[in-house]
Amino acid sequence: MRPFSYARADGQAAAIRAVSAGGAGTRFLAGGTTLYDLMKLGVEAPERLVDINALPAIRGFDTTGPRELVFGAGARMSDVAADPRLVAEYPALSESLWKAASQQLRNMASLGGNLLQRTRCAYFRGGEPFACNKRVPGSGCAAREGIDRGHAVLGGSEACIATYPGDWAVALAAFDGVVDVAGPNGSRSIPLDALHREPGTTPEVETSLGRDEMILRIRVPVTPLGRASTYHKIRDRESYAFALASAAVALRMEGEVVREARIALGGLATRPWRAREAERGLVGQRLTAEAARAAGDAALRGARPGHHNAFRIELGARTVADALLIARQRV
Ligand SMILES: Cc1cc2nc3c(=O)[nH]c(=O)nc-3n(C[C@H](O)[C@H](O)[C@H](O)COP(=O)(O)OP(=O)(O)OC[C@H]3O[C@@H](n4cnc5c(N)ncnc54)[C@H](O)[C@@H]3O)c2cc1C
Ligand code: SF4
Repeated sequence: MRPFSYARADGQAAAIRAVSAGGAGTRFLAGGTTLYDLMKLGVEAPERLVDINALPAIRGFDTTGPRELVFGAGARMSDVAADPRLVAEYPALSESLWKAASQQLRNMASLGGNLLQRTRCAYFRGGEPFACNKRVPGSGCAAREGIDRGHAVLGGSEACIATYPGDWAVALAAFDGVVDVAGPNGSRSIPLDALHREPGTTPEVETSLGRDEMILRIRVPVTPLGRASTYHKIRDRESYAFALASAAVALRMEGEVVREARIALGGLATRPWRAREAERGLVGQRLTAEAARAAGDAALRGARPGHHNAFRIELGARTVADALLIARQRV
């Protein structure tokens, strides 16, 4: 690991100024569970870290408001996952957090850092021996001819097929979350669905966030769909593993009939993946096992298999179908 300097920011404006003035080598530091990891692997090598953990502006969260749930970017995953209102009224949001990582990591990791975690592609994390357009633009993509079992079947490009690994962003996508950010030129809000980018020809550009913009908070509109929701995560082992396929779903029903549906996929795509066609197809339908499976197939329409990951198309469709049937029980 290369030497770096560390400073604790004593205010939001000072932190943004420090990262802005420091250029590409200066980074915000929250829980460090992604950033230190990548520094130890040599994938990232910042010269200066600006610790934002003590900033009051990003701490805490409030799920009691009449119009929206508000989560400070510095709130810890474990605290938010255990919030009683979230558990009871937005189980998909709570489950997406407690099914992620381990208890120790969740105690340390922040919500903002979670959104900005980077792919687990082994060729990206493996460093120099491997061609990787995301790490070294223009160098190629070792995954294309390598082992792509964990790679994306949706949203990939010639340049990169790396999966977005996070869970929380997938649940937020289903609930139309919004991210408030501040930078040297002021503040703005970004719909969660527009935060992460597909790789296209520039896989190194992963989000629409400026390098010196800080995530302050995440907001979720209050909705009656929250209660009948779930985050269903399928992985190689039942705990402490990234998703092979996951689905955040939420429903508003009238009797047996779906009036509104939200479906977002995780583990299968290069970004959190909202499946709007599948949502539309459910409206007005009785939610039978067959209708749930048809929604799963619609959600995976357009998926492109590689050499070793075709099984995840079927797995993804089944994950969506099962998630819909779980959410239906919660109406
Ligand atoms: C072994 C392991 C297993 C894991 N399993 C899962 C899993 O199953 N599901 C899952 O979703 N995640 C998983 N994770 C990822 C984990 O949840 C993230 O590492 C964590 O949430 C990142 O938060 P952090 O506060 O530690 O971020 P940091 O490491 O501090 O920061 C991450 C990045 O975000 C930037 N950043 C942080 N905060 C802000 C901010 N407010 N504004 C702007 N930029 C910011 C940093 O500069 C850095 O680039 C796992 C991690 C590990 C190590
Ligand atoms: S899939 Fe993306 S991250 Fe992985 S090796 Fe290819 S370019 Fe790099």
